Amino acid sequence: MKRRKFLKNSSLSTAGIFSSALLTSCETDKKLKPVTEIIKPIVIATWDVPNATDKAWQVLSNTGTALDAVEQGVMIEEADINNQSVGKGGRPDRDGNVTLDACIMDKDSNCGAVVYLQNIVHPISVARKVMEDTPHVMLAGKGAELFAYEKGFEKENLLTEKSRAEWLEWKKTSKYQPVINIENHDTIGMLAIDANGDIAGACTTSGMAYKIGGRVGDSPIIGAGLFVDNEVGGATATGVGEEVVRTVGSFLIVELMRQGKTPQEACEEGVKRIISKNGEKPDFQIGFIAINKKGETGGYCIQPGFSYRVYSEKGHINKTAGSYISS
Ligand code: ASP
Repeated sequence: MKRRKFLKNSSLSTAGIFSSALLTSCETDKKLKPVTEIIKPIVIATWDVPNATDKAWQVLSNTGTALDAVEQGVMIEEADINNQSVGKGGRPDRDGNVTLDACIMDKDSNCGAVVYLQNIVHPISVARKVMEDTPHVMLAGKGAELFAYEKGFEKENLLTEKSRAEWLEWKKTSKYQPVINIENHDTIGMLAIDANGDIAGACTTSGMAYKIGGRVGDSPIIGAGLFVDNEVGGATATGVGEEVVRTVGSFLIVELMRQGKTPQEACEEGVKRIISKNGEKPDFQIGFIAINKKGETGGYCIQPGFSYRVYSEKGHINKTAGSYISS
């Protein structure tokens, strides 16, 4: 009941956004370029994270920016202790430390990132502070943590009983073996378009479970785990970060869209590039999602089992991504 009401409200307020966006661009564009397309807000995220995309959609429906939408959207997963691959409750490294990586990118290609951050629930918000309050793009480890305290973030123990117990179990054999689709969701990458037609993205993770202390993957690396170009679109990744870094996956996908590929075609080409470096049957998982300026979306992965959430005025759906290797 509550949900139906929300959907109804969302579509009503979205209708408001559409007409005001149309009006604004007609009124303010002094060159009077013909308005050919109505701007339609949309948000997409890796994995089946309806609470996160719901939150982002609420922000967009209230005329919020894409940047606020993606930050607030992924914060839902960072705070959710049942999501053991992001934020609080994330699986630790092999020494039992939960270390977080995140990055954010806005419509003007401003970006911020934190890597190897400990004791802070919302690395995405620290990344945004790096972007907005410093002349830098990335802060690491202790420096990032001290910066977070300076900005008013609270110190918090991120290792939950559940993740600690699983880590202790893992320590009995200490077999470092990343598992394909380790659970039903992994790194959360989110891309949104707001009522102005502007695109922003966010990506946040606790990284590979039981990694070597200090290891950083693709997720906080602009161009690898996330990339946005407001003229073209955005892309984000989940899966074995080392492989995404090697092909600068998200940047590649945005560039492929610039050359005319649809988001779906670009994600498929991004996966094929990884395949071309690893042989036909890699035993790891990578998933990409992408969005273009028109609000078209795509997703593709190596192994079956990856899905992504899409929330637009057409509804809120979980889409199963096609995979290079069939089940
Ligand atoms: N991409 C993340 C990393 O390599 C992990 C994941 O998405 O599973 O740290």
